[in-house]
Amino acid sequence: MILAPLGCTSVKEETTDSNKPRYGMVFDQNKCVGCGECKEACNKANNLPEGKSRMLLEQQSGGVEGQVCPHCGKSSCDCQRKYVRVSCQQCQNAPCVTVCPTGAAHRDPETGIVTMDASKCAGCKYCIAACPYDARYINKETDVADNCDFCLHSKLAKGELPACVQQCRYDALIFGDLNDPNSYVSRLLAVKDAVRIKAHFGTEPSLRYIPVVKLGV
Ligand code: SF4
Ligand code: SF4
Ligand code: SF4
Repeated sequence: MILAPLGCTSVKEETTDSNKPRYGMVFDQNKCVGCGECKEACNKANNLPEGKSRMLLEQQSGGVEGQVCPHCGKSSCDCQRKYVRVSCQQCQNAPCVTVCPTGAAHRDPETGIVTMDASKCAGCKYCIAACPYDARYINKETDVADNCDFCLHSKLAKGELPACVQQCRYDALIFGDLNDPNSYVSRLLAVKDAVRIKAHFGTEPSLRYIPVVKLGV
């Protein structure tokens, strides 16, 4: 039995015709222990103000209806806690980019990653209202909207992986080019059941989630 994050849709990997990369990230719910080190690494790498973050870890309640935990015997317990990464989904059809009147929220022409040009942001919050994933916020120190851009400027530009991926000691985060059939992320998704969150909105998110598998259920 698969415990999927809420609002998820199974997906067969699609590739675009473009020769350009399409960067994506996989969050493996089976491996995440909820340590929060990815979030701390993100805040540090991207110099975010206190109390704001480009990503959250949402805790899902433990237990499966009608079942007791094999470890403690309770129907709902801490030992079965699971986590879901909540962050920008790097939509291929990104409403935040469509509604932005100034071009501040835009797609990087080289990588296709949805990112920000801080110098153009008017702070109108249209992009925040348009994002169906509640993944954007205004940085109070700069009055500029912000989203997870896979550390485009802080890490990828230097040839490094996103800070969260580098930090995770449990291999719960995998990053790479979904358009490259030989990339690790593509080969992983070819053999694992993965889902996208709120795919019915038609935004074509680039994050994939490998949900918890309960063996023997
Ligand atoms: S660092 Fe890895 S294991 Fe820890 S919360 Fe983040 S994704 Fe989960
Ligand atoms: S998840 Fe929200 S912020 Fe990220 S690309 Fe999609 S609409 Fe934009
Ligand atoms: S807050 Fe900034 S990025 Fe968002 S829509 Fe307004 S100008 Fe564009």
